[in-house]
Amino acid sequence: MDSQYIIKEDKEYIAPTYARFPVALKEGKGSKLYDYEGKEYIDCGSGIAVNIFGVNDEEWKSAVIAQLGSIQHTSNLYYSKPQADLAKLLCEKTGASKVFFGNSGAEANECAIKAARKYSDIKYGENRKEIITIKNSFHGRTIATLSATAQEAFHKYYNPFVEGFKYADANMESVKECVNGDTCAIMLETIQGESGVNVLDGEFLKQVEKLCKERDILLIVDEVQTGNGRTGYLYSYEAYNIRPDIVTTAKGLAGGLPLGACMLFGKCSEVFTYGDHGSTFGGNPVACAGACSILSRITDELLAGVKEKGLYFKTNLERIKNVEEVTGMGLMIGIKTTKSASEIAGKCLEKGLLVLTAHGKVRLLPALNIKKEEIDAALKILNEVIAE
Ligand SMILES: *Cc1c(COP(=O)(O)O)cnc(C)c1O
Repeated sequence: MDSQYIIKEDKEYIAPTYARFPVALKEGKGSKLYDYEGKEYIDCGSGIAVNIFGVNDEEWKSAVIAQLGSIQHTSNLYYSKPQADLAKLLCEKTGASKVFFGNSGAEANECAIKAARKYSDIKYGENRKEIITIKNSFHGRTIATLSATAQEAFHKYYNPFVEGFKYADANMESVKECVNGDTCAIMLETIQGESGVNVLDGEFLKQVEKLCKERDILLIVDEVQTGNGRTGYLYSYEAYNIRPDIVTTAKGLAGGLPLGACMLFGKCSEVFTYGDHGSTFGGNPVACAGACSILSRITDELLAGVKEKGLYFKTNLERIKNVEEVTGMGLMIGIKTTKSASEIAGKCLEKGLLVLTAHGKVRLLPALNIKKEEIDAALKILNEVIAE
């Protein structure tokens, strides 16, 4: 078995929706990965913020295997211990009152959109349904979450899109222009990952929160990428000291298995009742067992380490020639350089480093337990490639 064979099969049989790097990864340990030829890579992408503790993590693996050995799936017609345990953990750690589980970020956001619309329908009648999202956001690939995604590039081919979304710039003037008597929610990412690790201004978020509270507009924070310790906080809204009504997450939640969660806080926690929403796989026991293992290890100590490693990355990246700006928080890092991000990513790959790109920037989303010597090895390659 070699990479070329896999690449050939892929090109023959898989719908070519992904621009893949020319590598097939076979195995690994932590932040070190190997392809089918045995070449080693330092992983600074962690499967797009998914493998929170890297690959093949012993503790996570034993939690997952234990669950696989008892029951792999039950359907949501029955009660499930891993699901109930995980919901309890999430609520205890965040202050949320209720959780709905899906399988992905898009599904978590679909749930949030439904929750906001139902909340408003019951209280204000059927016309108050508009949701405001922020330009350059990314909320998923289903039709509704694409409609919520405020980027022109995503709004072709698949029309008609879902009605009832308005797009504001990331400033109060623009948000106020969009808000009217029909607004039921404002949905945003604190740090826009897919569009280049744009960190939204803290004062802006405070003002959005205030406006939402005054007008009973629900504040939905999409923590699909920023969540689960990524920023040095369990969920990034904590860094901004704001209190959302709905928080969605996915990517890293189950440490490498598909799982999404929509957390309902305070006044909207009782919004759903029997039959309102559902999913066959949502809250799968194996994924939930993996997530319980991950969440119980995102401790204050781990988060302090994430902040420290993030700062170390940032300080050292800023010293590299041709680096113009380093954005982000914790281990969610965007690097703006004078060069092409995709060229940099390609050259890093050749030298044994996996990095991501986002809107012209190089993006790093390493595992939260990446080792100091792995960070140094990554920085050395980034320096060679970017400064050359
Ligand atoms: C990745 C992402 C999504 C979509 O998640 P999927 O699991 O791919 O559906 C939604 N919102 C944000 C902020 C993301 O980064």
